[in-house]
Amino acid sequence: MHELSLMDSVVETVVEELGSQRIAVVRLEIGELSGVAVDALRFCFEVCTRGTVLADTALDIVMIPARARCRSCGGEHATSSLMAACVCGSFDRELICGDELRLKEVEVV
Ligand SMILES: [Zn+2]
Repeated sequence: MHELSLMDSVVETVVEELGSQRIAVVRLEIGELSGVAVDALRFCFEVCTRGTVLADTALDIVMIPARARCRSCGGEHATSSLMAACVCGSFDRELICGDELRLKEVEVV
Protein backbone atom coordinates (compact mmCIF):
# COMPACT_ATOMS: atom_id res chain seq x y z
CA MET A 1 0.00 0.00 0.00
CA HIS A 2 1.31 3.41 -1.03
CA GLU A 3 0.17 5.14 2.15
CA LEU A 4 1.92 2.62 4.36
CA SER A 5 5.35 3.00 2.78
CA LEU A 6 4.88 6.74 2.76
CA MET A 7 3.98 6.92 6.42
CA ASP A 8 6.73 4.48 7.24
CA SER A 9 9.34 6.87 5.81
CA VAL A 10 7.75 9.89 7.53
CA VAL A 11 7.84 8.14 10.90
CA GLU A 12 11.37 6.92 10.27
CA THR A 13 12.54 10.44 9.40
CA VAL A 14 10.97 12.00 12.49
CA VAL A 15 12.32 9.30 14.80
CA GLU A 16 15.81 9.63 13.32
CA GLU A 17 15.89 13.41 13.47
CA LEU A 18 14.01 14.09 16.68
CA GLY A 19 13.57 10.75 18.37
CA SER A 20 15.28 11.90 21.55
CA GLN A 21 12.59 14.53 22.18
CA ARG A 22 8.95 14.18 23.04
CA ILE A 23 6.87 15.07 20.03
CA ALA A 24 3.26 16.17 20.43
CA VAL A 25 2.20 16.60 16.84
CA VAL A 26 3.45 15.54 13.43
CA ARG A 27 2.00 17.81 10.75
CA LEU A 28 1.75 16.83 7.11
CA GLU A 29 0.68 18.90 4.14
CA ILE A 30 -1.33 16.95 1.64
CA GLY A 31 -2.40 18.37 -1.70
CA GLU A 32 -5.99 17.79 -2.74
CA LEU A 33 -4.77 16.13 -5.91
CA SER A 34 -1.90 14.16 -4.39
CA GLY A 35 -3.97 11.00 -4.74
CA VAL A 36 -3.32 9.99 -1.16
CA ALA A 37 -6.17 8.70 0.98
CA VAL A 38 -6.18 10.70 4.21
CA ASP A 39 -8.09 8.05 6.15
CA ALA A 40 -5.52 5.48 5.11
CA LEU A 41 -2.71 7.83 6.16
CA ARG A 42 -4.20 8.21 9.62
CA PHE A 43 -4.54 4.48 9.98
CA CYS A 44 -0.98 3.92 8.77
CA PHE A 45 0.33 6.51 11.21
CA GLU A 46 -1.12 4.49 14.07
CA VAL A 47 0.37 1.31 12.68
CA CYS A 48 3.80 2.81 12.00
CA THR A 49 4.14 4.62 15.33
CA ARG A 50 3.10 1.65 17.43
CA GLY A 51 5.95 0.72 19.73
CA THR A 52 7.99 3.80 18.76
CA VAL A 53 8.63 7.08 20.59
CA LEU A 54 5.81 8.52 18.47
CA ALA A 55 3.18 6.16 19.87
CA ASP A 56 1.33 8.99 21.67
CA THR A 57 1.94 11.62 19.01
CA ALA A 58 -0.98 13.18 17.16
CA LEU A 59 -1.10 13.37 13.39
CA ASP A 60 -2.30 16.65 11.93
CA ILE A 61 -3.08 16.73 8.23
CA VAL A 62 -3.35 20.07 6.46
CA MET A 63 -5.10 19.85 3.10
CA ILE A 64 -3.68 22.11 0.39
CA PRO A 65 -6.23 23.22 -2.23
CA ALA A 66 -5.18 22.66 -5.81
CA ARG A 67 -4.51 25.57 -8.17
CA ALA A 68 -3.70 25.40 -11.84
CA ARG A 69 -2.17 27.88 -14.28
CA CYS A 70 -3.45 27.96 -17.81
CA ARG A 71 -0.76 28.01 -20.51
CA SER A 72 -3.20 29.53 -22.99
CA CYS A 73 -4.54 32.55 -21.12
CA GLY A 74 -2.16 32.66 -18.16
CA GLY A 75 -5.01 32.59 -15.69
CA GLU A 76 -4.71 30.92 -12.30
CA HIS A 77 -7.68 29.18 -10.79
CA ALA A 78 -8.60 26.81 -8.04
CA THR A 79 -9.22 23.42 -9.55
CA SER A 80 -10.44 20.04 -8.47
CA SER A 81 -8.97 18.26 -11.47
CA LEU A 82 -6.51 18.86 -14.27
CA MET A 83 -9.03 17.15 -16.50
CA ALA A 84 -11.31 20.17 -16.19
CA ALA A 85 -10.98 23.04 -18.63
CA CYS A 86 -9.88 26.57 -17.82
CA VAL A 87 -12.53 29.32 -17.97
CA CYS A 88 -11.06 30.18 -21.41
CA GLY A 89 -11.79 26.64 -22.61
CA SER A 90 -8.21 25.42 -22.73
CA PHE A 91 -7.12 22.13 -21.17
CA ASP A 92 -3.46 23.11 -21.39
CA ARG A 93 -2.94 23.72 -17.71
CA GLU A 94 -0.28 22.97 -15.16
CA LEU A 95 -0.65 22.41 -11.48
CA ILE A 96 0.88 25.15 -9.30
CA CYS A 97 0.04 23.49 -6.02
CA GLY A 98 -2.17 20.72 -4.78
CA ASP A 99 -0.04 17.65 -5.39
CA GLU A 100 2.27 18.10 -2.42
CA LEU A 101 2.82 15.54 0.18
CA ARG A 102 5.29 16.70 2.74
CA LEU A 103 6.24 16.65 6.34
CA LYS A 104 5.61 20.27 7.29
CA GLU A 105 6.68 20.37 10.93
CA VAL A 106 6.59 18.64 14.24
CA GLU A 107 5.63 20.16 17.57
CA VAL A 108 7.98 19.21 20.34
CA VAL A 109 6.57 19.07 23.87
ZN1 LIG B 1 -7.17 29.74 -19.73
